[in-house]
Amino acid sequence: MTQNYRPVWAEVDLSALKHNLKIIKNYTASEIMPIVKANAYGHGAVEVVRALKNEGIKRFGVAFLEEALELRRHFPDLNLMIIGPTLPQYSDILVKEDLIPEICQYKQAEALSAAAVKLKKTIRIHIKIDTGMGRIGLREEALEEIKKMFGLPGLFLEGIYTHLATADSPDLAYAYQQLAKFDNLYRQLKKEGIIIPLRHVANSSAILRLPESHYELCRPGIILYGQLPASGLGEKAGFKPVMSLKAKIVHLKTIETGESVSYGRSFVATRPTRVATLPLGYADGLRRDLSNRWQVIVNGKKAPIIGKVCMDQTMIDVTEIEDVKLGDEVVLIGDGQYPEISAGQMAKMLDTISYEILCGIGQRVPRIYTNP
Ligand SMILES: *Cc1c(COP(=O)(O)O)cnc(C)c1O
Repeated sequence: MTQNYRPVWAEVDLSALKHNLKIIKNYTASEIMPIVKANAYGHGAVEVVRALKNEGIKRFGVAFLEEALELRRHFPDLNLMIIGPTLPQYSDILVKEDLIPEICQYKQAEALSAAAVKLKKTIRIHIKIDTGMGRIGLREEALEEIKKMFGLPGLFLEGIYTHLATADSPDLAYAYQQLAKFDNLYRQLKKEGIIIPLRHVANSSAILRLPESHYELCRPGIILYGQLPASGLGEKAGFKPVMSLKAKIVHLKTIETGESVSYGRSFVATRPTRVATLPLGYADGLRRDLSNRWQVIVNGKKAPIIGKVCMDQTMIDVTEIEDVKLGDEVVLIGDGQYPEISAGQMAKMLDTISYEILCGIGQRVPRIYTNP
């Protein structure tokens, strides 16, 4: 590891990750394929995969080829699926590295088949069906296209899957329509003698509330990391946030009434104010919209962000907190200990979803792993 000179870090609690996996297993008996795209939602894909592999997980999902290749270097034996599209011209590398691509176009299947024949190997593929997400996948043409693919040499049709657009909404009618389309296609394939062993549909929301969607394999993402897919959904399940964002105070001063803090002078002191500076900012994922709004924890007490969040620095008001010293630890995004400043709460304030908060924690913030 390179030296970490700046006192800013994200703490990743691997025991919370394992705890969340156990909870998921209480919801389903299907095989679990954790989704570790975007560096495991910002938690660090290699370490997350290592921890879950030790719990017996053998299959993981990533978004694109580079992510799969990084994992392949560390884990030669795992089943690695790429859930997003891969261009046909990269078929050779998919075959050589024994990766499992999704197929949403016949062209991909053709190119993969040619590569597999050339390299004298068989490649497993999972066919993506668009049942209503409107993103990628085969639609009305699916049955005919899959029949053609089934005849191609070097391919093993291991899986078929779809993605739900509204599994987290109060009304599940659309999700049931998507499942019906999926089931209908599967029945037709079966009639043609095409049996695909792994069906998968369920993301975190569907794992929690749509047992009909679990099939042979489930694809949890956000709940593994201890955040809820939507507010209220899975609240009582007992998931624990895995990642927290921390920093140390690097500067302290008292300013007078009328003096201001940061760009644009959006904060002007109305009393003598003790100001602490933290060495991180929006380039680390502490979004600028949090200026004058978010609260952090210093010595167990809340302190508000004052003034605009800068690229690399942020100021907080610690007037109300006794004995604050240089080097004191500050929590900016809480784990289970500070649910009031969780990634979910931050997402609410910023009118987004916790996914975006977690993925947004900058590459330049080192991850520290605890409780392996
Ligand atoms: C990201 C993703 C998931 C995981 O979704 P969560 O809501 O985080 O559980 C599952 N399937 C696909 C296709 C995805 O893109």
